[in-house]
Amino acid sequence: MDKNKIWETTLNFLKANTTDLSYNTWIAPLYIKKIEEETGIIYLAWTNQPGLIDHINQHYLQQIENSLNNSLDKNYRVIIKHDKEYEIPKIDTINKKNTLNQENLFNPRFNFENFVVGNSNKYAHAVSVAVAENPGDIYNPLFIYGGSGLGKTHLMQAIGVHIIRNNPSAKVLYVSSEMFTNEMISAINDNKTRVFRNKYRKLDVLLIDDIQFLEGKDATQEEFFHTFEALYQNNKQIIITSDCPPVSLKGLDERLRTRFSWNMIADIQPPDYETRVAILKNLVDKSDVEMNSSLYQVICFIAEQVKDNIRELEGAYNRVIGLTQLLGESITIESAENILKDIISDNDQAIAPERIRTIVAQHFKIKLSDMDSPKRNAEIALPRQIAMYLCRVTTDLSLNNIGKLFGNRHYSTVIHAVEKITNDLKRDEELKNNLEIINAKLKSKKR
Ligand code: ADP
Ligand code: MG
Repeated sequence: MDKNKIWETTLNFLKANTTDLSYNTWIAPLYIKKIEEETGIIYLAWTNQPGLIDHINQHYLQQIENSLNNSLDKNYRVIIKHDKEYEIPKIDTINKKNTLNQENLFNPRFNFENFVVGNSNKYAHAVSVAVAENPGDIYNPLFIYGGSGLGKTHLMQAIGVHIIRNNPSAKVLYVSSEMFTNEMISAINDNKTRVFRNKYRKLDVLLIDDIQFLEGKDATQEEFFHTFEALYQNNKQIIITSDCPPVSLKGLDERLRTRFSWNMIADIQPPDYETRVAILKNLVDKSDVEMNSSLYQVICFIAEQVKDNIRELEGAYNRVIGLTQLLGESITIESAENILKDIISDNDQAIAPERIRTIVAQHFKIKLSDMDSPKRNAEIALPRQIAMYLCRVTTDLSLNNIGKLFGNRHYSTVIHAVEKITNDLKRDEELKNNLEIINAKLKSKKR
């Protein structure tokens, strides 16, 4: 297949079916990196700001995939990565002979160093480290489950990478259950089932991702069952991820479900606010973007908005950074709010601190920046204290974080503000009125 020809046809089609602006911004900077027939995946490379890939995935991937498949004889899945990502030194270079490590399937970012540990994932993280240190030993099989975008693939690959680093000759294979299925089907079509079986049964570590895709696929499950048995009986490590616990995998053979429950089952929950901020901070630290107080506020703002999915959390951050850089703007809460308006829910029950700060500042006719300034005159100190008080009573932010949001103040200042407003409210009618008006504004729909 000539990838250039295929891409040219696809581009012509897309050009005719999207606006010029979208086409030029989001589609023209792509090209086909490789077409992988065995797995049925077409890899596209993106040549602009890396942070924008999520935006393409969300808005254009489906259209691109459909258009490509229009001109092909079978259906391919499309994966878009930055062209630099294709150049990253392969894990394979750790061990030239180790041809089994499908290192292009290992994401170089998915290691333990980049994994932020919080309450929601500390258990899964701890058992993963234990497995990485002693594969095939204590927790076999290891079954990790949790909702989409919570770090299952990241954790699983971190184990694989760690094992290869410790023992470069270990045969470690990462595969999604979809890829396993596709590979098995092609092996049957090409009369290569022996090769397929040998490949899987001589592994030291098998990482099989998103096992829920095997539900209802009886032939693949049968094959996987034998792979599992062969590996397990030889004390080879098996790690499985899924979007739900084994008992809920109703479309899976009972024999597999019980085996998945034989040893360690660890879940990952959605991250709490502090962990979400830590994950974004980690992204900043690992990039060449410089941290400052305005960026910190934007990070907190994003962490408030995106709660249940770390992939979307990162996506929102990358979009804000990518688009502000592309447009040459500075990063502010306003620009972030603007860029993310489609994901910020209108009926959001929780009131964002930034909204509190803005509404209080508007009400008292002071500048938003005065909330952070060292000024202590009453016209400014009072609104600031009210805003801190409201942050305390209407959000689940810690005192420490509230202090940080107000020009990096010490948490004792926040305690003082909360106490003062609470006490004054008991006798100060004017303050009471002001707070009622502000509360009504906060509860009304968006500004
Ligand atoms: P899942 O496989 O559960 O759908 P992924 O492992 O693909 O989720 O994670 C989604 C994104 O979130 C990835 O970019 C991953 O690096 C990131 N991520 C998830 N958990 C963490 C964490 N604890 N620390 C840092 N990044 C994380
Ligand atoms: Mg995953």
